[in-house]
Amino acid sequence: MNHKPRRGVEPTAPPPPPPTHPLLARAYPSSLIEWEGSVYALLPAAPPTPKLLAVLGDTTDLARHESDRCEKGLALCPLTPENLAVLRQRLPWLRPGLLGLHAAIGCGDRLGLATPGHVRAVRKTTVLPIFAQQSVRENVRTGRTPRQVIDDATWGLLQEGWSEPWGADADHLKTPEDIEPFAAAGFTFYTIDPGAHVDNEAHGADVSVLLDKWQALPWSELRDTPAAMEARYLDRTVSAEAYEMHFDRTRLYRAAGKYGRALVHVARMYDALQRRLGKFEVEVSVDETDTPTSPLEHWFIASELRRLGVRWVSLAPRYVGRFEKGVDYIGSLTDFRRDMAIHAAIARALGPYKLSLHSGSDKFSIYPIAMRHTRGQVHLKTAGTSYLEALRTVALAEPLLFRQILALARGRYGNDRVSYHVSADSARVPTPESLADAELPSVLEQFDGREVLHVTFGSVLECLGAQLKASLNRNEELYYTTLEAHFDRHLAAFNARPPSRRK
Ligand code: ZN
Repeated sequence: MNHKPRRGVEPTAPPPPPPTHPLLARAYPSSLIEWEGSVYALLPAAPPTPKLLAVLGDTTDLARHESDRCEKGLALCPLTPENLAVLRQRLPWLRPGLLGLHAAIGCGDRLGLATPGHVRAVRKTTVLPIFAQQSVRENVRTGRTPRQVIDDATWGLLQEGWSEPWGADADHLKTPEDIEPFAAAGFTFYTIDPGAHVDNEAHGADVSVLLDKWQALPWSELRDTPAAMEARYLDRTVSAEAYEMHFDRTRLYRAAGKYGRALVHVARMYDALQRRLGKFEVEVSVDETDTPTSPLEHWFIASELRRLGVRWVSLAPRYVGRFEKGVDYIGSLTDFRRDMAIHAAIARALGPYKLSLHSGSDKFSIYPIAMRHTRGQVHLKTAGTSYLEALRTVALAEPLLFRQILALARGRYGNDRVSYHVSADSARVPTPESLADAELPSVLEQFDGREVLHVTFGSVLECLGAQLKASLNRNEELYYTTLEAHFDRHLAAFNARPPSRRK
């Protein structure tokens, strides 16, 4: 059992022996905890009874489960939002916090079952975790709310006994209206995505078009004038460490034309966050634009956002190369290295802030490059990879269900791929009939198979979601160990010190 000292305060006398109860012998071992005179633990599901919270001691305000027998002071409580709200008041480490400039990993989890696996991998490293991370788009596709996302993650970290800092990312917020459900649920990290306000046409436009765009910018909302902006940039050379960038008229008009409206939108979103929240962290992401963010554009965005009063801890430019879902980086590593080195120098010169890698799942070849050039001020976002590890678990444990999922994914890919950057061909994905059971996991080692399975998650959840979740619950230990092994690979490059700092 963990006897948790208050952080930073060493107990002066050995704690009294904890109360015990026979039912606690069944608890997830890492979940068992004693805090301020009460004992808390999670009990695994014993169908038809679901997972339960067991509390020995102060049971005030906790709703009981119907199987509760009021035995010897032990309360058995369902995993409801109301009971979790009570626990958050008592166990402060269940509340997400701010992570600052520390290297961090976002562990998106579309099914709400992956956090114990994430905890097992992260706790062996120095990387700080964001255990709750979901975009508005993912919530729509998975039918989950911000509250469910943060609650599922919190129960998961309670199950594994995580008591260090962690964050909760309201990912890819596009409108001020998107903020409220995340704020109400207690999210701490807000990713502002002004992508809809980026003028991609400016990227390749000629000078006369750029002049029109420049004149049509929303100058009053930018709290600026054309003359004042020219005075700040035109014919100037700026430098970030060893790198110099020169703003001639075309480059300035192009950067302003492409990102001017996006700047206004970020400032508006930031003001809305400030009105709603006390402490929060912000990421600015322009990763989902059609064209890469040049270093000069990065400089322009960051210095203009600063002028507009926006403060952020990380920024996601659109890097060179292709960041397709669930597969490694596609493009020249030499180009990426050069791009990352300049972006990182700018992030130090104008921040410091972290650089964020979106669609970061399985980009193993660029992690060491990102870590080295940012000097550890980096944020990696993953989401789909935990879903793919869920499918690997099903492929290993329940081949029949995996065959159904694979058949559905092959059929739906053509429709479902539309809103994603993917290039897989579903015809290259083996049909379920062509594979023996033992060969099923190999689909997850194949480029086309990974992308096809990745982007069809909405269809799979719609048609087979209940079966998939039931299968993962039946095989939860396999799911956690599968996830842990996969996240060990993700985390290796970001770990500042050798493992074992934490238990
Ligand atoms: Zn993104």
